[in-house]
Amino acid sequence: MKFSQPTAALLIPDQQPVEKALARTTHLAIGAHLDDLEFMSWSAILECFQQNDKWYTGVTVTDGRGSARANQYADYTDEQMAAVRHREQIKAAQIGEYAALAMLDFKSSDIKIPGNPAVIGDIKDLLLAASPRIVLTHNLADKHDTHVAVALATIQAIRELPEDKRPKTLHGCEVWRNLDWMSDEDKVVKDVSERENLMMSIMSVFDSQISGGKRYDLATFGRKRANATYFASHATDKASLLEFAMDLTPLVKDPKLDVAAFVSQHIERFARDVETRLRKFQKK
Ligand SMILES: [Zn+2]
Repeated sequence: MKFSQPTAALLIPDQQPVEKALARTTHLAIGAHLDDLEFMSWSAILECFQQNDKWYTGVTVTDGRGSARANQYADYTDEQMAAVRHREQIKAAQIGEYAALAMLDFKSSDIKIPGNPAVIGDIKDLLLAASPRIVLTHNLADKHDTHVAVALATIQAIRELPEDKRPKTLHGCEVWRNLDWMSDEDKVVKDVSERENLMMSIMSVFDSQISGGKRYDLATFGRKRANATYFASHATDKASLLEFAMDLTPLVKDPKLDVAAFVSQHIERFARDVETRLRKFQKK
């Protein structure tokens, strides 16, 4: 497999031949940074863990060179930081027993070029080689520009595939903004209560970010825990951890559907829900 960036890498944790390793993929997640996959796609990692018929492939798009750094990492150069982050990502893929890990190594600024054919081309090649039945990426209401750019590139790449090669399902996951605001009927709800231990170990390898000043591990765990408790007010918690996703499948089923208009409809439903409740109990 040839990627557009000379420094891109493809790792197969169990050393299978590349073509075979990719072809077994059922779940493919595409994250902007070298850690996003492990914060946003527990459902897919857990569903595939040690299964013979389900395999998770992870794709990271940025190169890690512009990362925030603090404490022990404060004096690291961009090159050192990128190297550390790549090593951490590889550790996570090994612990999670991924089918494959592709690190595409684009500069953040390149990803934000609308319709960048290099980014879209690499994602397309991976989708063709892996033919996953479900693809996960960032949700379109995320507040991080690079996350949104990656989600848009993913949608574009899928739209450019022949119809019979498109994945059946595309989900947008939570990182820099949760999806609690979406109406419950629209939320894709995934129970990730099993194997807390595994997910805690997978997240813990991102030391350069966590000891580097941000407790992403606790925050991610806390968000999924809060999702489970605050999802339904009248039921007791059946799940202790929940992930929410935005179903982006309509955008790839209908390539003409406008992305911004699609997301705006979700936001309008949220606005209507808040307004209706207020009007119901407001003193006339
Ligand atoms: Zn990120």
